Amino acid sequence: MRFLVGGINHETNTFSPIPAEMQRFRDMHYDRGQDLIDRARGTRTVIGGFIDAAEQLGVELVPSVHCFAMPSGSVTRDAWDQLIGETLEDLRVALETGPLDGLLLGLHGAMVIEGIDDGEAEYLRLVREVVGPDMPVVTELDLHANTSRETTELADLLVGYDTYPHIDMYDRAVELTELLVRLAKKEIQPAVAFRHIPILANLTAQFTGRAPMSDWVALCHEIESRPGVITATIAAGFPYADIPDTCMNVYVATDDDQALADQCADELARFAWEHREGFQATPAGVDEGVRYAMDSPGPVLLADVADNPGAGTSCDGTEILRSLIAHNARSAVIGLMFDPETVRQAVDAGVGATIDAHIGGKVDDLHGEPVEISAYVRTITDGFFINGGPMGTNSESNMGTTVVLEIGGRGGIEVICTTFRRAANDANSLRSVGIDPTQRQIVVIKSSVHYRADFTPLVREIVEVDASGLSSPNWSRFDFQRLRRPIYPLDRGMEWNVEDQTS
Ligand SMILES: [Zn+2]
Repeated sequence: MRFLVGGINHETNTFSPIPAEMQRFRDMHYDRGQDLIDRARGTRTVIGGFIDAAEQLGVELVPSVHCFAMPSGSVTRDAWDQLIGETLEDLRVALETGPLDGLLLGLHGAMVIEGIDDGEAEYLRLVREVVGPDMPVVTELDLHANTSRETTELADLLVGYDTYPHIDMYDRAVELTELLVRLAKKEIQPAVAFRHIPILANLTAQFTGRAPMSDWVALCHEIESRPGVITATIAAGFPYADIPDTCMNVYVATDDDQALADQCADELARFAWEHREGFQATPAGVDEGVRYAMDSPGPVLLADVADNPGAGTSCDGTEILRSLIAHNARSAVIGLMFDPETVRQAVDAGVGATIDAHIGGKVDDLHGEPVEISAYVRTITDGFFINGGPMGTNSESNMGTTVVLEIGGRGGIEVICTTFRRAANDANSLRSVGIDPTQRQIVVIKSSVHYRADFTPLVREIVEVDASGLSSPNWSRFDFQRLRRPIYPLDRGMEWNVEDQTS
């Protein structure tokens, strides 16, 4: 058998002013053809899973474009036209050069393109135009997918991650590859049920290590073990996209049993609705969090959940830094602060120099003002490291040229400034610049949940803090205009019944 592999990925925060241009894909992850296979082999990633499963099953993979850019505002039309153009070209060549038995895709589920709300449906529609209605097309999706009904109709099967932090992308990729083989052999005939659940779920409450999310995942797995069920996916959605399909959703595929699919999907949807309050969050205030971290046994990790670049924020929010300085905090580190201007200034000055820095607060006016302060240039690196934690293990990360600035002398506050906008989800992002997080009192990480996979065993305690930012759990900071209404908790008193929906 021969499958084409591809996928254009982005998680779009429509409130962000930062466009996802072609260069942002190249900076982060863009591979086409054999490079895709060569670079993903041996990694615990989606493509790494496709490769290993295909080898096990004796399937030949035809690699096209697979890419993702850091979450931000919409994908530009230029970037989209180029990426989808290359994909469709590779698809036509694959069809001409031999029989093709299926499309094995890795998409995200929350991609917005300039002028197109539903990036995944657009991708699937365009590849369907080339391969026709009968070719099996399947895709893996992120747990943050704002899946549309159209996507569920254009793809034969969807398999979403079951974990946040996303530590099962490899396993789900293996599962998806096995399912595509069975589809291509016509061993299964999917009957699909899909439900939108009108809940805006906070990212921090989507952590799958904590109830109710952990219980929802357990129910999903129990349903998948029932006879006749092929696969079930729960998606908590990506709330910072002001588009009609943004909400929680569930997807169940059975082997030719529509009634069973409907019943299982209803059960999953009902669970989410009954636990809707548990999908909200109330983090600590900034000063409260900083004082707590200073007075408690360390290391205490302060999660800057409102400035999570993995959710499309500027990653240069300064409120926690400002509070640390005001409280004379010691032995603190901030990872990571996106500030290419300060990086250049520090590189020009050199290691050992003291600079008049204007740290952070430059991308937009939503993440605090720059902090103007004298800082010592301690370290300069190329920003490259290999992920050692459970997420994307063995894959490469690149922060661009990176500097460590030290405020308040030895043992003061270290700020890791990067050239690329990146989240410190893997502790190697700190170790690669000479900082051992276990040896600090306060570790500030700009991330909502992913950091937990690697940092939880390294720190004594984690405190979620809400500074202002484009991934704030505080919905009142956002002017939603285009969500399908009513939606909880914006329409707090609303009633909803899953039986009112149809498959
Ligand atoms: Zn995600």
